[in-house]
Amino acid sequence: GVVVVGSISADVTAFARRLPRRGETVLGDDVTVNLGGKGANQAVAAARAGAPTWLVGCVGTDPFGDIVSSALRAHGVTLTEVRSVGSRTGIAHIRVDASGENDIVMTPLANADLTAEMVDESIRAVRGRAGVLLLQLEIPAEVACHAAEAGARAGLTVVLDPAPAQPLPDRVWPHVAVVTPNESEAAALTGVEVVDVESAERAAAWFLDRGVRHALITLGSAGALSVTPERARHFPAYPVTPVDTTAAGDAFTGSFGAALAAGLDVSTAIRRGMAAGALATTLPGAGASLPDRKAVDELLDA
Ligand code: ADP
Repeated sequence: GVVVVGSISADVTAFARRLPRRGETVLGDDVTVNLGGKGANQAVAAARAGAPTWLVGCVGTDPFGDIVSSALRAHGVTLTEVRSVGSRTGIAHIRVDASGENDIVMTPLANADLTAEMVDESIRAVRGRAGVLLLQLEIPAEVACHAAEAGARAGLTVVLDPAPAQPLPDRVWPHVAVVTPNESEAAALTGVEVVDVESAERAAAWFLDRGVRHALITLGSAGALSVTPERARHFPAYPVTPVDTTAAGDAFTGSFGAALAAGLDVSTAIRRGMAAGALATTLPGAGASLPDRKAVDELLDA
C-alpha cells in the first residue's frame, strides 16, 4: 500500500468572466467547493490507481473538515491517520476567468498543525501494510524532512514531490529514493533552468550529487526524464488533448507510487504515472479528473 503524508484543503473556486481589478467587485457565474491539497490529491490518485492508501494529515472541526473527509472516503482513501484538530480546515481560495487564467490564495490552517510525532505514530500504524511513502511540501518543512527520514528508517520507499519548491536541508536528500519535480520546481531547487531533456539531465545530477537515488523530472507534454546513477532515460508523453492541466503532477505521483507499491518495475511505474498524468489533463479540475486503474490500462493498451 501507499502512505501519503501531506496537505488536505477545501478548494473554493469562483468562476467569473474576468478577474476583478484591485478593489473591484465583479459578478461571478459559479462557485464550487472541492477536495484539494497536494497530499489529498496524491492519495486520491493512488487509491484510484488501486493501492490501499492511507493519508496522514490534519483537517479542522469545521464543516469544511466534513466535506473533505467524505470526498476522501468516497475515493477510497483510508482516513484512520487523518486527524481532526482544533483549528480550521485548510482552504485554497481560487478565482478563474473565462480564459481559464486563475489566481490562488492557499491558507494552510490545520495543515500547519501536523507534527513529527503524528507522522511517527502513523508510520507505526501502517507498518507492514505500506511500502511507499509519498511526500510533498504543503506541510511544515521540518515535518516533511522528518517524514522522509522516519519513512526511510521504517523501510518505506520515500518519493518526494518538492512542491511548492523551497530550499531543504542537505540531510533530507539521502532519505529520498525518488524525487519528482516538474520543470519549474527542478529549476528553483537546482538553479538549472530546465527547458529540455539536456538541461533536465543537469538538474537531475544536482539531486543525485546530494544522495537521491532516482531523479524523475516531469516535463509536461514533453514526458519525463528518469536519471539514476546507472542510466538516464527519456520517456515521451502519451499524446492527449489537454483541457485543464491542474493535478497532472499529482496524478503522476499517485499512480507512480501505487504501481511501485504493487511491486511493478520502475519503468512500468513511470509509464503508469505518465498515463495518469496525461489522462488528468483531459478533464477539468483536480479530484474528479484523476483517472482510475482501468483508464490507465486502456491508454497503455491503445
Ligand atoms: P505538474 O502538474 O506537476 O506541472 P507535469 O505537467 O510535468 O506536472 O505533468 C506530469 C506528467 O503528466 C508528465 O510527465 C506527463 O507524462 C503527463 N502530462 C502532463 N501534461 C501532459 C500533456 N499536455 N500531454 C501528455 N501528457 C502530459
